Amino acid sequence: MEVSRRTFVKSGVAGAVGLSVFGFDLTPLQAQMQELKISRTTETRSTCPYCAVSCGVIIHTIGDKAKNVTPQVVHVEGDPDHPINRGTLCPKGSSLQQDIENQRRILYPRVRRPGSDHWEDISWNQAIEEIAQWTKKTRDAGFIETDAKGDTVNRCESLFWSGGCTDTNEFNYLVVKTMRAMGVVRLENQARV
Ligand code: SF4
Repeated sequence: MEVSRRTFVKSGVAGAVGLSVFGFDLTPLQAQMQELKISRTTETRSTCPYCAVSCGVIIHTIGDKAKNVTPQVVHVEGDPDHPINRGTLCPKGSSLQQDIENQRRILYPRVRRPGSDHWEDISWNQAIEEIAQWTKKTRDAGFIETDAKGDTVNRCESLFWSGGCTDTNEFNYLVVKTMRAMGVVRLENQARV
């Protein structure tokens, strides 16, 4: 069978609707091609961290169940079962995979000491230790037991809590309990912005 350039192009168009000029049904092949990207991935449901809308996403990871393989996120899409976005994502959310798989992403705590001109990597244990020490020090230094009228208030105005849109209801419940126990009165969450 002689295939001209025009016939060859037409075969490509015909292929797009599932039948090549050579008579082969290409539908299974197209289905396979469309499936390949996520066919062997693990699906993890999560929340887009970019803004207060908090759209639901499905993160597709490959290699997270194999030995000696570094897991890699290969695709992120909107969660069709999520009540907020029902599968849709804005351009920022659609590019989430590039945020997760990014060489410049910071994976460990860093601190810039007073007077220093650079950031220093520290361990998670050290970060938690230092945060606890500074929280205690700041809270004790700014704790107010009575107001100007002499009424007992037991509040701390020198600390502030700001949560993120990916914080769950349960996490926020614990945050409020913990902060109120310390007397912190100023609480905010990105989900309200
Ligand atoms: S997908 Fe867009 S609208 Fe939805 S949470 Fe992310 S940034 Fe906000």
